[in-house]
Amino acid sequence: MILTINCGSSSLKYRLFSKDLDKVIASGLIARIGEEGAYCEHQAHERRAQLHQPIPDQDAAFDIMADNLMHSEFAVIENPREISAIGHRAVHGGDVFVESTLVTESVMEQLNSCIRFAPLHNPANIAGIEECQKKFPGIPNVVVFDTAFHQTMPPEAHIYALPYDLYERHGVRRYGFHGTSCRYVAQAAADMLNRPVEDLSMVVCHLGNGVTIDAVKGGKSVDTSLGFGTFCGISMGTRAGDFDPAIIFHLVKELGMSIEEVEAICYKKSGLLGVSGVSNDMREVEQRAAEGDKRCALALEIFVYHIRKMIGSYAAAMNGLDALVFTAGIGENSATVRSKVCAGLGVLGVHIDEGINEIVRDGHPNISAADARVATLVVPTDEERMIAIDTVALVH
Ligand code: ADP
Repeated sequence: MILTINCGSSSLKYRLFSKDLDKVIASGLIARIGEEGAYCEHQAHERRAQLHQPIPDQDAAFDIMADNLMHSEFAVIENPREISAIGHRAVHGGDVFVESTLVTESVMEQLNSCIRFAPLHNPANIAGIEECQKKFPGIPNVVVFDTAFHQTMPPEAHIYALPYDLYERHGVRRYGFHGTSCRYVAQAAADMLNRPVEDLSMVVCHLGNGVTIDAVKGGKSVDTSLGFGTFCGISMGTRAGDFDPAIIFHLVKELGMSIEEVEAICYKKSGLLGVSGVSNDMREVEQRAAEGDKRCALALEIFVYHIRKMIGSYAAAMNGLDALVFTAGIGENSATVRSKVCAGLGVLGVHIDEGINEIVRDGHPNISAADARVATLVVPTDEERMIAIDTVALVH
């Protein structure tokens, strides 16, 4: 069996796959670790349980996971040895990690050197690996990076026009995120089209709370909308997306804000929430916009306009576009967003069937109109499966 771990600062998601990855045997989410209202959801044997209990730290969370898998009424394994490998999600691999890798001592050292790039996320990912080494000794661990897929970007796409020294000495460059999702979805889209991924130029729109638009040419990421950090590109739930950095100097020098206040504005108070003034949740923004709320309608328009512009620029960067792929919470579920994004892309050959777009949830992944030059697809993402696939490949 293969276990996948996605460890955040206050959450732990896990999934246990059968050896051939055909079946999900058990899965769970432990949330609000170290906070009030901590809980654990566990699913196995086609049953689901939710338990509210104090969960003081990651160590306790891993104990609960191990207990759920091995000792509870939901137990699915008798001995940890039944797990042949564990795959971990890591947010930032810097430019050290260009692909998934088996965990060794030197990999752990290199992982620690990447903490400076993702101080909020990487420590939790590292802690997750250490917990597994402690609780499941002798079982190989594999680490899969959100940034690795984008390491194929050419220099003109990943180097900012800042003093070169900042790039060379301090690693200031575009890294990109959501790479595991984009890689999975790009391959799945090629499979759906029954064409080799190597022959396709596609734009993957990962539209969740965080948003990545990714240019994938020949199966490789050649440009991506997130950068050094995670607030540039498209406006998101609470993040601004692209805006003129001169505004930051203005906020600090003219309005007297501290750098922490500006950071909070960029990451937590902008995007759908900042413009609408009501919510970072696309469902609510859409609903209120439909009821006539002007600020919600504007937040939605800004969101889709950013995406449309990015798709156009990536079609130019790749000198063509064969497929446009929507994924993640908004991409998979919002017919409105898909319709609005595609409405301005006729010039590129994107043309969707509005009727099919509405019924995607009934299983129509290809929403292109009959006369479209570009295939437009809705592909559910599955980062856990991608992590498991890499884990199996590396362990065998
Ligand atoms: P995360 O980045 O946290 O993994 P998700 O991929 O789960 O995020 O996406 C969360 C987003 O998806 C939220 O903005 C949510 O409102 C949106 N979403 C989920 N279902 C729908 C829906 N039916 N219509 C519109 N938006 C939706």
